[in-house]
Amino acid sequence: MSFAKFGKVSYVSETKLQEFETKLEAGKIMGTKCKKCGRLYFPPRADCDCMKGEMEWVELSGNCKLMTFTTLHFAPASFRYEVPYTLGVAQFEEGPTVLAPLSKELGEDEIKIGMSLKLVPVELMGGRMIYELKKLESQ
Ligand SMILES: [Zn+2]
Repeated sequence: MSFAKFGKVSYVSETKLQEFETKLEAGKIMGTKCKKCGRLYFPPRADCDCMKGEMEWVELSGNCKLMTFTTLHFAPASFRYEVPYTLGVAQFEEGPTVLAPLSKELGEDEIKIGMSLKLVPVELMGGRMIYELKKLESQ
């Protein structure tokens, strides 16, 4: 049931990763880490590339830096009411990268490559959960 409520469109549910959604609702950004090779995954994965892993949950700070971004003016049907919106790729301080929408609170002229951002869970109407990149409050 893990990804049942995640995203604006439904993802395939996977029981092993249920905790991702539960924690997201509690405001936590969770990744998984391989106990054997130490590789960290976000979004969480149930199995490691090394194929001998046992995965454990780790909470990420959410702190990240913007690596690149693009503003979309056209979008697939389920996102058509959102345009224009900006998608960013950011790198967590823990290492993995995330592709996520930038908060609409961020003005287009504020968005700069290398800026510090925080990935935060957002609850949509109807209880669906997404996450987005927000400006760090200290900035
Ligand atoms: Zn591994």
